[in-house]
Amino acid sequence: MQTTRTFEWIHSRRQTVSTSLVSEPVSRHHAETPTERHLQCIWYDPALRPPGLATNEGEPVEIENPGVWNLEAGPDFLGAVVRVGSERRRICGDVEIHLRPADWTHHRHSDDPRYSSVRVHVTLTPPVNALAPVGAICIPLAGPLSRCPDFSWAAVDVTAYPYASRPEPAPCELALRRWSADDIERLLESAGVERLRRKAQRIRLRATMVGADQALWEELMAALGYKHNKTATRKLAQRVPRTELFAAAKSDVETAAAILWGTSGLLPEAGPSLRGTTRRVWDRWWKHRARWQERALSRDEWRLDGVRPLNRPEIRIRAAAVWALRHPPPAERWLAAAAVGPQDFLKHILRDLAIHDPAGEIRTAAVGRSRAVSILINVAVPFLEASGLPVLADPHWLQMLPDETPNAVERQMAHTLLGRDHPPSWCRGALRRQGLIQMFTDFCLNDRSRCAGCPFPAWLAAAAGSSSSPPAEDRL
Ligand code: SF4
Repeated sequence: MQTTRTFEWIHSRRQTVSTSLVSEPVSRHHAETPTERHLQCIWYDPALRPPGLATNEGEPVEIENPGVWNLEAGPDFLGAVVRVGSERRRICGDVEIHLRPADWTHHRHSDDPRYSSVRVHVTLTPPVNALAPVGAICIPLAGPLSRCPDFSWAAVDVTAYPYASRPEPAPCELALRRWSADDIERLLESAGVERLRRKAQRIRLRATMVGADQALWEELMAALGYKHNKTATRKLAQRVPRTELFAAAKSDVETAAAILWGTSGLLPEAGPSLRGTTRRVWDRWWKHRARWQERALSRDEWRLDGVRPLNRPEIRIRAAAVWALRHPPPAERWLAAAAVGPQDFLKHILRDLAIHDPAGEIRTAAVGRSRAVSILINVAVPFLEASGLPVLADPHWLQMLPDETPNAVERQMAHTLLGRDHPPSWCRGALRRQGLIQMFTDFCLNDRSRCAGCPFPAWLAAAAGSSSSPPAEDRL
């Protein structure tokens, strides 16, 4: 597999974007109880959207364009256009959707610059004494939906959105139809290598500032934050550097876990009602509190709604304490394992990350295999590249990467780019999945033109049109 020289992967796209994933949790897909996901589907699909939409002040609303469904962090839809009032005032901007109007405040969107372009706040219930986004109209859906006799929440197939609901093929899919299957697979792999290379660049830059070991600690913690708490766990790793934690805990894992949990701001306040794990953690934390307290994060910096009990951040934080205290230090032991070869490295990383909660609150591993595989691909391999091992140019290393379960962004991009009925084999393999995410972040993520201004289709057409298949010198 040659993957390093293909089709000059899109160096024209320099923008850096957040890679944290998907905004709102999906739950109770087929329940009669509505979720935000149901409201997103209704807003997006004209077939579901009820007639008679109006602002909270009673002005009629007409949807010209519901916007692009945003699968990344930030508002739910980007670049919507609506007409408001009898004079049909044109309002353009992003759309945020909540069940309750007060969720805008609860989720602290006003303090988040990603939400500064929200001009439409869609809610289920009308706002009553709730702070609205500044400069935005509010459109409550409950009234119009109640006037639709055939409407049922259970009839909204939330799993079909957004990728299964696109009425027309995307321009990039049309352009890619001229490509051979081999070239499509190589294109995806090339984009995947580029994604890992960018991660390596970020780690290398950070390592020049804080050292390789600390850079790795921060990356690992960010990965343990999963999609909702990456920023908080990365910040915690910066507030509690690994070497300081190691020295303070004096090889005691429970003390290290107490320091991390206490500094995270998630440890419940002390009191006579404390029991079990929390009581034991406090027995250790109070001895160290004075030193770390002023570095502590606020509880508000964590997102805890929609997080399954087994995925609670405090469990991951405690698991990280185990990893941080192992000998030799993480960067040293990972580089030593890499020196043996790709297969040994793979086994070592999966073993190294098979961590159990030191507090024993859950029986299963606190870091499961799928998360460990994700860390291998997104952290360990870029770390090796950043450390000077040219693994991204070595087919033995690239072929070693285990496949992952596709996430929502990968499924969306595969469907959009490769078409509804593409062979699953086209996007099988870690590199191709990484490539789908790279294409999504480079082109779709910030596209507010509904594809009209996207340069990717023209690039694909030019690459395919330069010969009957893409030029030999551009091949992988
Ligand atoms: S924004 Fe570009 S890459 Fe994304 S679906 Fe549209 S044409 Fe394709």
